[in-house]
Order: sequence, then C-alpha cells, then structure tokens
Amino acid sequence: MDSSRSLEYVLSMQGGDDDVSYAKNSYGPAAALASSKTMLTSAIDSIKLTKGGSSLIKIADLGCAVGDNTFSTVDTVIEALSRKVTVSDGKSDQPEPELEVFFSDLPSNDFNTLFRSLEDKVNSSSHKYFAAGVPGSFYGRLFPKGELHVVVTTSALQWLSQVPEKVMEKGSKTWNKGRAWIQGAEGDVVEAYAEQSDKDLVQFLKCRKEEIVEGGVLFMLMGGRPSGLVSQGLIEEEKRDGFNIPVYLRSTEEIASAVDRCGGFRIEKMEVLKIADPMNAKQQELKDPESYGLAMANSVQAGLKPMVEAYLGPDLTCKLFKQYAIRAAANKECLEKNYFYYMIAVSAIRV
Ligand code: SAH
Repeated sequence: MDSSRSLEYVLSMQGGDDDVSYAKNSYGPAAALASSKTMLTSAIDSIKLTKGGSSLIKIADLGCAVGDNTFSTVDTVIEALSRKVTVSDGKSDQPEPELEVFFSDLPSNDFNTLFRSLEDKVNSSSHKYFAAGVPGSFYGRLFPKGELHVVVTTSALQWLSQVPEKVMEKGSKTWNKGRAWIQGAEGDVVEAYAEQSDKDLVQFLKCRKEEIVEGGVLFMLMGGRPSGLVSQGLIEEEKRDGFNIPVYLRSTEEIASAVDRCGGFRIEKMEVLKIADPMNAKQQELKDPESYGLAMANSVQAGLKPMVEAYLGPDLTCKLFKQYAIRAAANKECLEKNYFYYMIAVSAIRV
C-alpha cells in the first residue's frame, strides 16, 4: 500500500452479505446517519432550485458502499426534496421533477451486491428514481460541470486518498514505528496525517465545487474529533510498523478552514455528534464473551479486511482476526465499557 493508486484498488468495505460483510455490520455508520437525519433534512430544505422548477433533480451519494445505509440516505433526501417541491413549486400544471440518483464509490466496491438490491429499494422508496453507479475516487472529478443538485457523503471522508508518504519512509522520524495509526503516535506522524487530510479535503471540495449547481447542497458526515483530542492515546498499540490505516478524524476548525480556502460554498450548519457505539448494545444482547468477541471481529473486518488482506495475504489475515476475536472475548474491561465516537456533520450551499 505505497501509492494512492494501489489504495484505490484495495480500499473497500467487505462485499457480499455474509457475517463479515459491511452490509451486515454497518450499525456504526447507521447510528451516525440516524443522528444526522434532521440536519440532512433541513439541508435539503435550504436548497435553491431555479425558478420554474428543474425537471430533473440529480442526487449523488459518494462513498455509498453496500447495504441499507446508502438507500436510507437517498430516501431521506428524496422525501425532503418532494416536500420542498410540493411546497414551493406545487402548481398543479407543473409535473413533478424526475429524480436521478448516482451511487458512487471506489471501483473495488461491491457494486453487484448493491445493484441486486436496487429494484426492491427503488420500489419501496416514496418516489421512484433512476439509478446509476459511478466508479471512481471522490478525490477526483466524477461528474460534468454544474451537474448535481444534492451531494451527500456519509462516513467516508475520514478515509484519506493515501497513507501520507512521509509515514512510509522507513527510518525517518515520521516512520510510524509500533503503530498502524496516529493514536498515540509521534507529533510528526500526526502532522503528516493532518497535512494529507487537509490536502485531500480541499481537493474533494474543489471537485464538488465544479460539479454542484449554484444553490445546490453538499452534505458531509465524517468521522471527526472534538477540538484538541488528536494526541490523546485512545486505541491499543499495533504490531505492524509498515501498515498504516489511511484515516484521519478532522476537527470542525480544520473543516471550516478547508471550506473557506476552497471557496464556492457557504456552511449552513456544522455539528459535532457524539454517537454511542452500537456495539455497546451488543454487549447486553450477546451474553457470552465468545459471541461478543466474534461480533467485534466481524465488525472490524467489515471495514478493514480487504485492505489488511491486500497487505498480509488471506492466511495471515484469517489468523489475525481469529486472534482478534479471542482477545476481544477475553478483554473484560472492553466488555463492560460503553464506547462513544464522534462524527462531524456539515451542510453547505454552493454559492
Ligand atoms: N456511506 C455508507 C458507507 C460508508 S463506508 C454508510 O454511511 O454506511 C465508507 C465508504 O467510502 C467505503 O465504501 C469506501 O470504499 C468509500 N471510500 C473511501 N475512500 C473513497 C474515495 N476516495 N472515493 C470514493 N469512495 C471512497
């Protein structure tokens, strides 16, 4: 995993719909979505559609993965849009606009599983929509200029385009020895991640600035941190020095600064959401430690297995997660603790 290109091809959520799949283990992002639903609805309310109404409204979900979360996001957007269209342009002689939804993710995403459930989801949605898949990184252009009215991205922007190059330089002071991530890491390593994160977010915004029509909405929900938490150690040390997870949890200040420097967007609202980890409830539900350990290992694999497997190979990966399940089951402290994490929700208007 030493270049952004290779990352694009190994980073994906676990496909399919078995026990370790993302589709069956996306409670965390689902809880985050639920907490930000009101904000997403009011973001759609602030959309400014051109006078006379648009006959076609285009919506994109960037980093859609597979499973119910992307469909429930799209449903929320569509319900809010139809209320708005009825209220503001509801003259009876005007036909309702048609809706087109783009499901977008990296090419390594399991689009087949996503598309297989599409027909049922469209039919059960409050309004029919046309759907298309768009493979590609959201750190590049995905759509023609001025094409989209609503862009949503949930639980995806904390994934960086690459592990910062400096962190991969063996022997340098930014070589992330003893860890797979920045928690508890040296200041220089954290700094390298922060730089990469800033570069990526500005790049993301520049692309969306081109693609979203004036008056359109950009809604971003991403893993974040309350200000000033970055250097506190929160997770356990990792053994693999060369394996680094390309994730960064931004603060509201970092996000506001990137939006400001990019220009073209006005932030309507930004909120830090404290989410109770749905695994807490699993502790009650799964009384025996083994089942809990397995559930923990499944949920970690749903997000990381494809990437770990590309690095360690299938056999070692399988052993690693078996070991993880055993350790999680044996960790009394972890079994009894209630975990929280933070997400940041931002709604912005293209001005
Ligand atoms: N939006 C869904 C899925 C979140 S999982 C939900 O809320 O549950 C994060 C998704 O972001 C993964 O599917 C991953 O492949 C995708 N992703 C990460 N980096 C990306 C990039 N650079 N471009 C497009 N998608 C990306």
